[in-house]
Amino acid sequence: MPRAPARAGTPANLDRLVQLARIDLHVHTAASFDCDVPPGDVAKHALKLGLSPLFVTDHDTIEGALRLKAIGWSVVVGQEISTADGDVIGLFLESAVPAGMSASETARQIKAQGGLVYLQHPFDRRRHALSEKAIEAIMEQIDLVEVFNGRSSSELNAKADALCASLGAAPGVGSDAHSIRALGRCFIEMPEFSGSADFLVKLGRGRLVRRTSPWRMRLRTAMGGSRKPLF
Ligand SMILES: [Zn+2]
Repeated sequence: MPRAPARAGTPANLDRLVQLARIDLHVHTAASFDCDVPPGDVAKHALKLGLSPLFVTDHDTIEGALRLKAIGWSVVVGQEISTADGDVIGLFLESAVPAGMSASETARQIKAQGGLVYLQHPFDRRRHALSEKAIEAIMEQIDLVEVFNGRSSSELNAKADALCASLGAAPGVGSDAHSIRALGRCFIEMPEFSGSADFLVKLGRGRLVRRTSPWRMRLRTAMGGSRKPLF
């Protein structure tokens, strides 16, 4: 897999010392019911943007992520899981987590396979955010909070930032891309990592870059998309 290029604005000597990973924690492919971009196209565009590894967080499936992995892409397998209490993301998964369970049981199953619990767009009620009661129930299990979602309002992102601080969780950012153009609109640059524990440690030295998606993209994905063939 080609490596991401040296970052603009990073001194060349520093880049030699520390290889940086550029990551977008919240990305969808056509494996999601509401996205029509084939996983292969997402991966190719991510590479152009220097995003690697590619985090794939489809709704209630890891099929797209696994298929990309199987053909050699550097992928972190994630899933945006529909729980009985709202949605939550599992990162660094080995297997899919069933939908429809309580938030507590979902978090337990994510942890049982060595994954991380990533609370995405909290408080965004129009997008199945986890209820406040459920957040309280799993607060000890939450590893990361999405302090910036590319499709959320600045007000909701500010609330997420405050929640992250109060929970003592690690901050994450995700474009929540359902289209090629939205991919990588926000991202993190951090030292390269190996596995979930190393990722969490090194995330503390990451730089968060926050940019919102154009409103047309947010509107289109909010209205839902058509299902297309996977590859
Ligand atoms: Zn999403």
